[in-house]
Amino acid sequence: MTTNEELLSRRNAAVVRGVGHSTPISAARALNAEIWDVEGNRYVDFAGGIAVLNTGHCHPKIISAVREQMEKFTHTCFQVLMYESYIELAERLNALAPITGATKSVFFTTGAEAVENAVKVARAATGRSGVIAFTGAFHGRTAFASGLTGKVIPYKKGLGPVMPGIWHVPFPVPQLDVTVEDSLKFLNFIFKADIDPSRVAAIIIEPVQGEGGFHQAPPELMRALRRICNEHGIVLIADEVQTGFGRTGRMFAMEHYDVEADLICVAKSLAGGFPLSGLIGRAAIMDAAEPGGLGGTYAGNPLSCVAALAVLDIFEEEKLVERSNAIGARLKAKLSALQQRNDLLPIAAIRGPGGMVAFDIVTDRASQQPDAEATKAVTRRAHENGLILLSCGTNANTIRILVPLTASDELIDEGMTVLEQALAA
Ligand code: PMP
Repeated sequence: MTTNEELLSRRNAAVVRGVGHSTPISAARALNAEIWDVEGNRYVDFAGGIAVLNTGHCHPKIISAVREQMEKFTHTCFQVLMYESYIELAERLNALAPITGATKSVFFTTGAEAVENAVKVARAATGRSGVIAFTGAFHGRTAFASGLTGKVIPYKKGLGPVMPGIWHVPFPVPQLDVTVEDSLKFLNFIFKADIDPSRVAAIIIEPVQGEGGFHQAPPELMRALRRICNEHGIVLIADEVQTGFGRTGRMFAMEHYDVEADLICVAKSLAGGFPLSGLIGRAAIMDAAEPGGLGGTYAGNPLSCVAALAVLDIFEEEKLVERSNAIGARLKAKLSALQQRNDLLPIAAIRGPGGMVAFDIVTDRASQQPDAEATKAVTRRAHENGLILLSCGTNANTIRILVPLTASDELIDEGMTVLEQALAA
């Protein structure tokens, strides 16, 4: 039998250091919210492949749609021969996205590509180049997307100069003592010191920061950004790569706000485990790029498009948006109970909309200082005891839960019991 240890050692010899790993485990198979490793150990999955599996591993509807498509054709390149699944997916997302008026869509493969293309489209539509992003943001690992990402280590350190034309505004986070007023003051400083707003093409924001620690943008920030964008003709881009498809208790996290983005980046749970990303937006902006300026050989792969259509059906049939809210309430009730316990590591700031739930591990209840070491120990103990659990956050002390929305209450409770044991100091 191949062991996890053997595969880890082969991986370390053959695969670069630059690709990190959260667990030392190698998967053999997975179904819904459970994973089995190469040694036959079973795990409850609270990671969902980093927010990709809101519909669970290998949902039978998705697998059968992909299998059926595989028998017909697996690739044409959409720019060469069109296929209906791509067009139908665009139609359905245009209708679903919280943007009023005419909308259009385009598909790619990764979240970073969706972000890059959002900026390209915004630049084409405005004839400007500047982009404003936020500290703590994560937008991907390509050259431009890592420039937009608001974290130096590990995303930028030693990886050469960042693309010009990007400025970062502090994202409001109570735990970091940054308020909405601070963010807006800083943005104004940038407009005074660095770039006139008339040269800014786009402001890009995650409605709830994912890698940055599950911090939700307050409504007053989103409203202010919308107002500033309207005033100066700037395109507002919502990066919903992690928040999209029911994670936050709405289909799109932008539905939590009373203002709209112009462009929405989607990926991850869009296609239930198949590689697909997309950009949905106001038709007038989306159509600014010249034919041939957008796309890619594999962009909008037909297997992924049929998977995404199945994902949208599953959301309706299994009422997964409602389920996200129920899961979130269940997780938060349990976490609040754990927070009262003196025999466990101190936890703070239980947060997040719908099923996008996180909390911090702190050194003590009084000072609430981040405890990255303890957080690492908690995820390690969880992995050793049958729970796949991820951390995140600027101070690496946030535990985030991205359990599939198709998981049963029993399975979620089982995962929470392992988490409780892992929190035992
Ligand atoms: N944007 C956000 C908000 C993300 O969470 C991620 C991935 N964690 C990305 C973009 C990049 O997606 P990908 O890794 O597919 O390029």
